[in-house]
Amino acid sequence: MLRFTPVRELNHTLASGDCETLAANRSQEMTGSRRGSSRSSSLRIGLLLLLGVSVAMLSELRAADSKSTQIKLDQVGYVPNSPKLAMVTSQASTFEVKRVSDNGTVFKGELSAASQDPDTGDLVQIADFSQVKEPGNYYLDVPGVGQSWTFSIRPDAFSRTYYLAMRAFYGQRCGTAVDMGSEFPGYTHPACHLKGEFHSSSGKQGERDNVGGWHDAGDYGRYVVNSGISTGTVLWTWEMFGPKLKNIKLNIPESGNGTPDILNEARWNLEWMLKMQDEDGGVWHKQTSEHFSGFIMPEEDSLTSVVVGTGQAPYKSTCATADLAAVAAIAARVYLPFDAKFAKQNLEAARKAWLWTEKYPNVAFRNPQGISTGEYGDSSCSDERLWAAAELWRTSGDKNYNDYVVKQYPDFRLTLDAPAPEGWRDVAAMGLWTYALASRKDGDGAVVADIRKRTAQAAQKIVESTRNNSYRVSLRSKDYVWGSNGVAASYGVELLVANALAPDPAFVETALDDLHYLLGRNAFSLSWVTQVGDNPYHHPHHRPSGADKNAEPWPGLLSGGPNAGRQDDVLKKLRAGLPPAKVYADDQGSYASNEIAINWQASLVFLLAGVLP
Ligand SMILES: [Zn+2]
Repeated sequence: MLRFTPVRELNHTLASGDCETLAANRSQEMTGSRRGSSRSSSLRIGLLLLLGVSVAMLSELRAADSKSTQIKLDQVGYVPNSPKLAMVTSQASTFEVKRVSDNGTVFKGELSAASQDPDTGDLVQIADFSQVKEPGNYYLDVPGVGQSWTFSIRPDAFSRTYYLAMRAFYGQRCGTAVDMGSEFPGYTHPACHLKGEFHSSSGKQGERDNVGGWHDAGDYGRYVVNSGISTGTVLWTWEMFGPKLKNIKLNIPESGNGTPDILNEARWNLEWMLKMQDEDGGVWHKQTSEHFSGFIMPEEDSLTSVVVGTGQAPYKSTCATADLAAVAAIAARVYLPFDAKFAKQNLEAARKAWLWTEKYPNVAFRNPQGISTGEYGDSSCSDERLWAAAELWRTSGDKNYNDYVVKQYPDFRLTLDAPAPEGWRDVAAMGLWTYALASRKDGDGAVVADIRKRTAQAAQKIVESTRNNSYRVSLRSKDYVWGSNGVAASYGVELLVANALAPDPAFVETALDDLHYLLGRNAFSLSWVTQVGDNPYHHPHHRPSGADKNAEPWPGLLSGGPNAGRQDDVLKKLRAGLPPAKVYADDQGSYASNEIAINWQASLVFLLAGVLP
């Protein structure tokens, strides 16, 4: 089955700036300039000209300021005791690591022999500076090529990025005013989408409470299926890495209420998901306008937000209902120490949803007449039910859920052998991993042992193929699909889960490789998280970023990434025959390669949390 497939084709509206960004993208192929430098350096140059500085002197100043995108490294950084590699795609022989503070050289090395990378078409040499462990801020100098973006080496190198990536969910909140605070002045909007109604396809009519949830992606819709894997992954992040996260304040309205902020933020979406449950236990599939809005701020979107059902009894969909069951079952565990009443409410909702799926095991969802927003369609909900049963068992210990998982296991165990086996449509791996991660003693020992073994074997294969990849990324040629950056982050999730089930430092190192790829060690020398690193992408397909007055997009958002499928007009216009990892445009109009989305954001958060000290 496909993962991260183009099911949610966006009926997008292009906003101004698209041509300009294409040009910007092309210039990045050659030599990049520091973020925002075009504006600030022209200002500075103007001043210098006034002071009588000669043009020759100016060109020297520019050269000193120039950075080469032929050097690709993690623009955030590296942790001291992990391997540290950069990729160089212009032929050279040596490199130096220099301190930012005084340009002093701390390490000199030789570049590796070049290897031809089929996914990018690049000839890649590797600079290995793993020996540099002293915390500090550095850059690479490659004689004949230029200088790299800066990076840091520190045990907590990724703390700030975690903060921004997790806090980005707050920026996606619907039904409330959002203000990113004094750190990001201007990143604010009044409450949006306050009015809601039941669509005729839902089996109900009239107004309904509309507040809550996260805007799903670049659009303003809310979708239970994608919320399921996203919220589930965030709750897992807490469950696996909680001790590292409990004191990280996200500066959100609930900060300081006694509950860790990651759980405060997840609750915003979870409460909306719970509202999507009907009295009979079933869960409506989504709540969106009938079609996508233009590129406007959320509070300006006057289209009515409608609860959408399947159009005929029982109106709710099995995948959405099972996803809610799984997520609410996790919530019943993780919120227990902080809010026992809320935990109980979640367990009841999960049990009720499960019973509904027993009665209706395969009600698929298709967009009903008149609805054209993302579909998140899925013909099989048996993997969602497996996940729900496994989470319900892990929380409650009830024998019937355990029996269900054990009985279903032979049908799903092979999913563990495929790399990056989870995505919003394929959640069987989530179900099996949670079964093996549970600390209960009443599970089936043989099943747990088999899940452990298969997960470790799959992770070992990922480690090997990543070592053989010129850019040291786990993505294979066929992984450059819609949301490939989400796939890269999912590899990281899988590796860290494997490390929890069968610890191996190579699993963590390879997960770090995937993070390095997302943060700049890629063919574009681009950080794919907004406002992170010296050279981040600038033009996500994200309505608030496109519609507001801020120069930079909203912070902490992961781009979808290269997509050989070319499902939008911007990608279709790129040169024919581009290698798969190069089919990308930092262009708002490229919804197939540059949209943001909560599901791959959640995988990024998990990955970042996993590598925090
Ligand atoms: Zn909204």
